[in-house]
Amino acid sequence: MSLQRKPCRCLLAESQPDLALTVAEYIASLPPEFRADEAVYQARLAHCRACDQLFDGTCVLCGCYAEARAAKLRQRCPAVPPRWLEGEPT
Ligand code: SF4
Repeated sequence: MSLQRKPCRCLLAESQPDLALTVAEYIASLPPEFRADEAVYQARLAHCRACDQLFDGTCVLCGCYAEARAAKLRQRCPAVPPRWLEGEPT
């Protein structure tokens, strides 16, 4: 019998708190001009939380941790059509 847990459709903060801390440190190290502001970040993560391409905090379309991708102002969702765009809340 396998003891592996089932992947969840959730962010790192909910599924892998230790890794989420590492990603949060990475986000904090980004120059402020490259970072999305908190409102944009949270709006993006709301899309990711509801997305069927999110597994254990990773976007399976691009391989990024959703929190890391959403934190970068000039990133966009890789889905076609994208669920969120660069720069602006969607
Ligand atoms: S970046 Fe886009 S495709 Fe990837 S999990 Fe978030 S909403 Fe889904």
